[in-house]
Amino acid sequence: MKPIYLDYHATTPCDPRVVDKMSPYFSERFGNASSGHIYGQEASKAVEEAREQVASLIGASPREIIFTSGATESNNMAIFGIARAYRDRGNHIVTSPTEHRSVLDPCKALQRDGFDVTFVKVDRHGRVDPEEVRRAITDQTILISLMFVNNEIGTLHPIAEIGKIAQEKRVIFHCDAVQAAGKVPVGLKSTAIDLLSLSAHKMYGPKGAGALFLRQKSPRIRIPSMMLGAGQEKGLRSGTINVSGIVGFGEACALTKKEFEGEVTRLRALRDRLKDGIFANLDGVTLNGHPTERAPNNLHLSFGGIDGRVLLESLVDVAVSAGAACTSTSVEPSHVLKAIGVNDELAAASLRFSVGRFTIEGEIDRAVEIVCRTVKALRAKNLAARTAA
Ligand code: PMP
Repeated sequence: MKPIYLDYHATTPCDPRVVDKMSPYFSERFGNASSGHIYGQEASKAVEEAREQVASLIGASPREIIFTSGATESNNMAIFGIARAYRDRGNHIVTSPTEHRSVLDPCKALQRDGFDVTFVKVDRHGRVDPEEVRRAITDQTILISLMFVNNEIGTLHPIAEIGKIAQEKRVIFHCDAVQAAGKVPVGLKSTAIDLLSLSAHKMYGPKGAGALFLRQKSPRIRIPSMMLGAGQEKGLRSGTINVSGIVGFGEACALTKKEFEGEVTRLRALRDRLKDGIFANLDGVTLNGHPTERAPNNLHLSFGGIDGRVLLESLVDVAVSAGAACTSTSVEPSHVLKAIGVNDELAAASLRFSVGRFTIEGEIDRAVEIVCRTVKALRAKNLAARTAA
């Protein structure tokens, strides 16, 4: 039997309704969306319908959506794009140390090219103080890039307040909202975000599809073409359009929007059941991330008194993550846990749990039992080894 999947931050299975919608676009409706004939028209109509579905989820207009291969591309496009387009206005970028690497690494690359980057410190829950963001802004600042929901510890940055500051100071605001879509309301009508990144595979759509929202009115954001070629996506992102992926992404957004309220309540109840179950059965457990300002599907815990290196391999029946999945090949302690002051030893003995659309109560109860049994066994082993030594 496969382990219980509690790693929805890493990726989600495609919803069967998404797969059904995508299926004809691999075969009978295989056209290239750029072709003028009926095959092409069929494909481009489906892409435009998906653009409306994506826009509708975040309260944007369809012409503000650029399809990409995922959020890594969207984040790179946003950061390098703004840096290139607005270089004559200034060379300063504001971000935080707990962003995803697809934001941090472009910022670091720009630093090597002469940009100045301020990493505004986060508090012990991983949240930036909007006033610190305000203080970091100089007359050279062209971009603020901060994520909506942290992909490791689930903490929410105060995005609405930061948007107001960015607007007031006339600084462009980019937000990586990959882990927010479907978990917290993302409404661009009321929140002053200028660029926003999304990824289909984090919301029950396929891998390899994503979007960048680019505000078109007050202010109109312009970025240069990042991929040159046949001029698809308004010339910003050339390359034959991934029609099936985009159709799936659109459907995933429509389902997320339709089911949002009930699903958030359900996820929160499952996450709290997991948390309460573990805390009721184990001492020496600490919660990482903000106690209330966090994604409803995230639980991040550190377990005292065990050797963290063996924790994940002992936990064969539950699929969770020890840090960000994207950096799981490296043995470095998570940069997010470091930034919130968790020491290396405890960081190694930490687990990220994330529940999702297909998680059921029975799985949570089994996971509680497995996690508690495993941690108790590891603690006993640790104690025995220390007594023998
Ligand atoms: N940003 C965040 C917050 C993420 O969690 C991820 C995926 N781990 C990404 C960006 C990258 O997304 P993608 O896999 O679509 O490139």
